[in-house]
Amino acid sequence: PLTAGIVGLPNVGKSTLFNAITKSQVEAANYPFATIQPNVGVVEVPDARIDRLVEIFHPKKTIYTTFEFTDIAGLVKGASKGEGLGNQFLSNIRLTDAICHVVRCFDDANITHVENSVDPVRDAEIINLELNLADLQTVENRIGKIEKKSKTTKDKDAVAEMALLNRLKPLLEEGKPARVLEVDEDEAIILKGYNLLTAKPMIYVANLDEEGVMDPSANAYYNQLVEYASSQNNEVVALCAKMEEELSELDKEEKTAFLNELGVDSSGLDLLIQKAYSVLNLCTFLTAGEDECRAWTFKKGMKAPDCAGVIHTDFKKGFIRAEVYRFEDIDELESEHAIKEAGRLRLEGKDYVVQDGDVMHFRFNV
Ligand code: GDP
Repeated sequence: PLTAGIVGLPNVGKSTLFNAITKSQVEAANYPFATIQPNVGVVEVPDARIDRLVEIFHPKKTIYTTFEFTDIAGLVKGASKGEGLGNQFLSNIRLTDAICHVVRCFDDANITHVENSVDPVRDAEIINLELNLADLQTVENRIGKIEKKSKTTKDKDAVAEMALLNRLKPLLEEGKPARVLEVDEDEAIILKGYNLLTAKPMIYVANLDEEGVMDPSANAYYNQLVEYASSQNNEVVALCAKMEEELSELDKEEKTAFLNELGVDSSGLDLLIQKAYSVLNLCTFLTAGEDECRAWTFKKGMKAPDCAGVIHTDFKKGFIRAEVYRFEDIDELESEHAIKEAGRLRLEGKDYVVQDGDVMHFRFNV
């Protein structure tokens, strides 16, 4: 499964957020290096469509799809030089598919800031610089390996790769992330092979206090971060990690009541999960029936047999066709019978590109 790594300076609220994610207790102590083991937390992806299917089908079982976060604590200044167990952290980030970059946007004199003041853009830049330097090393190593070959043998692949590296290196040297480099299809494949940290999609998480999160746009720290993030085409999710941790201890009804009281539809963590999902181009298809209503994750652009394979490899191997209707149709008509009557049930073959919100029944040979 795809995973988003949670990074950020010490004491910005990563562990608190991660606690909210796992509902388990990682020690959130008030000092750097409180949490050094990488950890994984699996969360349900909130989906109101599943709740609606449950109303219609009254299934015995309800299953949301899931998403994974990996806690990558302890990335600090100098990590790319191996300081503070730096290399280990960087290689843990390398294993993730997207980065959730937590930035402190709250004042609290009791909580030590490693840089002694709250300054979200400076903090974000410290982390980004480490990621950047690590990538620069990767790129320089690669140049060392193929530069000579490209010159002496004029090997076509080596020459093409050098052309890419010669654009990538100055970009990184300017402090820009690899994800902003414009590449063609072939170059995208080469780039992917480097597994660069700054090529991964990044979402900033502005960790505000309870007051700030009520109206983030009135918060100067938040606004500074938004301006910085948008200059790199990244988005910011505002949340209060402490509040998310408290919310995660409530059951579903209590949580809904609490959020209603605050006048919001979803929690900051829910928004973060949804953002992480979308930056990774993930979509959801649904299966519905009296036994089970369930959401499944697939990558945008996947065809019907591959989506069948998400459920079971046998479904893919023996795929015959899919019966498909839209969630909007069952929402409106409230039964599969009515959907058939209305001519909104489609039969789709192996080339059908599944869409987010499709309700699927797969037909297959066993
Ligand atoms: P980490 O080092 O990034 O994992 O940071 P922690 O999650 O351990 O948080 C550091 C300290 O900040 C802890 O004492 C938390 O209780 C506190 N903290 C975390 N999030 C918030 C928040 O949203 N508001 C306030 N006021 N304090 C927070």
